[in-house]
Amino acid sequence: MKILVTGGAGFIGSALVRELLAQGEHQVVNLDCLTYAGNLASIPTALHSERYCFEQVDLNDAAATTAVVLKHRPDAILHLAAESHVDRSIDGPGAFVQTNIVGTFNLLQAALGLFQSLSPVSQSQFRFHHVSTDEVYGDLAGTSDLFTETTSYAPSSPYSASKAASDHLVRAWGRTYGLPTLVTNCSNNYGPYHFPEKLIPHVILNALQGKPLPVYGQGLQIRDWLYVEDHARALIQVLLRGTPGATYNIGGHNEKTNIEVVQTLCDLLQELVPNRPAGVRQFRELITFVADRPGHDARYAIDASKIEQELGWRPQESFATGLRKTVHWYLDNQAWWQDVLSGSYQLNRIGGTGA
Ligand code: NAD
Repeated sequence: MKILVTGGAGFIGSALVRELLAQGEHQVVNLDCLTYAGNLASIPTALHSERYCFEQVDLNDAAATTAVVLKHRPDAILHLAAESHVDRSIDGPGAFVQTNIVGTFNLLQAALGLFQSLSPVSQSQFRFHHVSTDEVYGDLAGTSDLFTETTSYAPSSPYSASKAASDHLVRAWGRTYGLPTLVTNCSNNYGPYHFPEKLIPHVILNALQGKPLPVYGQGLQIRDWLYVEDHARALIQVLLRGTPGATYNIGGHNEKTNIEVVQTLCDLLQELVPNRPAGVRQFRELITFVADRPGHDARYAIDASKIEQELGWRPQESFATGLRKTVHWYLDNQAWWQDVLSGSYQLNRIGGTGA
């Protein structure tokens, strides 16, 4: 298949591109405008592959988006590009409305134009797979419920509201125009090449530098963690075998409080890093509680039984194995994250400003 991946230079998109290329069958077109979150160094294998091509395009540019879709005429589109950080959405929601909602609309229109030009056989094989989050379902505070594919939407943050809106657009394009759509809603991801503003890499990198490890509130918020490569494998399963029009929840059955995650990371670092930063005896000493995020959801948890039963997908990593792999990866790949922390990763890009 020729698969157009949007956001392939981001955290999950890059894991997906690496996995698609490793499977050795697919051609990949990576459409990404390279915001601060995009980094082509996250797909080192892709840069030398004949089955890979990169298009630096902003989804907010409808004409350029359509041109790339019509130029490559992919068999499927896997849409991951988004503004993805909740704190940034609170400080500046406009970019989230633009990229996550308007950008998705532009991509849907481009996909529909291509779809309508296809033969009936090609139409039956075409897929538009939209990658979304469990955060659209809102907060499970004080219950033991799990999110299923039929849980009502109740987003709390500008980020999750913009993702919810994009999910609705995708389903409407399926129902109204017959575009064969798939939607997946996944829990929190972690793993290699994760941008340092997110909790797990932030804690690892701050700890290595002897800096405070900020934890919101009392750290009692519960998230359901999934290793990013398990998510990438799930996305490929859904794309290849999912029923058009269907939604699949993806999760790792790993409900943890934020403070448990931070403490576990400290303990792993304590074990794996003999040379501690000056003045640090125990990494746990660096934990610092800070004022909670406004509107912070207390608990998310995914019921992933549909994808497990229908498509046979299961995560390969437990939280213990995945987190250990992640810590090892950050210890072994200092050049990647040092370039991100210094900003120099933005110098190597087409049209990059280094800002
Ligand atoms: P990310 O922020 O790491 O990467 C986003 C990518 O999209 C970047 O490469 C960026 O350059 C690109 N991009 C942003 N705006 C763009 C635009 N206007 N045009 C073209 N490219 C643009 O995000 P991520 O964590 O990899 O998440 C990928 C997708 O998965 C998102 O849709 C997100 O909502 C969803 N998701 C993320 C998680 C998670 O835990 N990170 C969980 C569930 C779902």
